[in-house]
Amino acid sequence: MNDNKKQHWHTTLVQPQVQVPAGFKALVPAIHRGSTVVFERLADVQDNWRQDHYTYGLYGTPTTRELALRIAELEGAHGSFITPGGQAAILLVYLACCRAGSHVLLPDSAYGPNRELATDLLAGLGIEVEPYDPLAGANIATLIRPNTHLVWCESPGSITMEVQDVPAIVAAAHQAGVPVALDNTYAAGVYFDAFAHGVDISLQALTKYIGGHSDLLLGSVSAGGAQWFERLGATHRLLGLGVSPDDCALALRGLETLAVRLERLQASALEVVGWCKQQQAIARVLHPALPDCPGHDHWQRDFSGSSSLFSIVFQPGFDQACTTRFVEGLRLFKLGFSWGGTTSLVMAYPRLARGPARAGQLVRLNIGLEAPADLIADLAQALAGAGSA
Ligand SMILES: *Cc1c(COP(=O)(O)O)cnc(C)c1O
Repeated sequence: MNDNKKQHWHTTLVQPQVQVPAGFKALVPAIHRGSTVVFERLADVQDNWRQDHYTYGLYGTPTTRELALRIAELEGAHGSFITPGGQAAILLVYLACCRAGSHVLLPDSAYGPNRELATDLLAGLGIEVEPYDPLAGANIATLIRPNTHLVWCESPGSITMEVQDVPAIVAAAHQAGVPVALDNTYAAGVYFDAFAHGVDISLQALTKYIGGHSDLLLGSVSAGGAQWFERLGATHRLLGLGVSPDDCALALRGLETLAVRLERLQASALEVVGWCKQQQAIARVLHPALPDCPGHDHWQRDFSGSSSLFSIVFQPGFDQACTTRFVEGLRLFKLGFSWGGTTSLVMAYPRLARGPARAGQLVRLNIGLEAPADLIADLAQALAGAGSA
């Protein structure tokens, strides 16, 4: 078979002389693990992140590239980068767009760790992040300064679910030459077409709907055009944001069932929302498809669907103790962060005093793939056991 007589078996363990045949055509992409990329000739050696070739595992393997290309295809992007999580994707956007002295506008309703990143790490680097009313729309123009280098959107907002007028914000920002980045995690990159609405950079926590099974952490950053693609690529490389090809393979598998999961999650969430609206203890249900959701008209105009996440605000008499009993009394809904998987989740935000959460205790629900009737029964028993003031 193989002629390795002249080679010590120690060497053969590391450098075998056998080769499997090429041409295995499975339905799923192969998982390529690797740090070093082997060059044939010294003249071929390069050290960059260009996506038409491979130089180092950190800057892309066939598996990570496959996921990046698939996300770009889905979102209609010029190109995408994969990051170790949604939070790393957010950091990548800041560092690609800003430098010391930059001013950034971030909606009040943004993902909590994004706001913490702004007030902690970025403030120390001389980057000023100013919160703005997520419903500002075209009025955002009055907040833009000569040193504004980035406007963030996140729609609907985390927890309080305000749907933003993204096209109006984009128009105002572009008028001043400022790029707009959107955290498009809620829409899974598909229910809101970021680039058709003029957004420059779109990101997703792939951890949520693309992964879909609560077993991986990944993010993506997509650029609408070549200019931001270049800037993001160079920054992505310098930050060393490598990702595991195994996790990327799980995300690629998640993509195959994304459509059916989203469809089912949308229908189940709306069913549970309908029940919540009829409960006396619940003052308000914050779901983009409901006419009284802040920014509902924008959702109606710009989105092609809703997903699994919504919040409820209790009547003023239903205090923090009642809310704690309610949350801890749930059996099917598990108490935990994140969302977009197959399991229903709950999280309370007792100290959240912004937007609709000023009126009462706010609880966020993530609907999973359980039967809606069972979820409703679970909510009913927890509500009955929580008492009210
Ligand atoms: C979860 C989440 C993130 C962060 O994603 P990780 O993968 O957990 O880092 C960012 N933005 C939004 C809106 C999220 O819900």
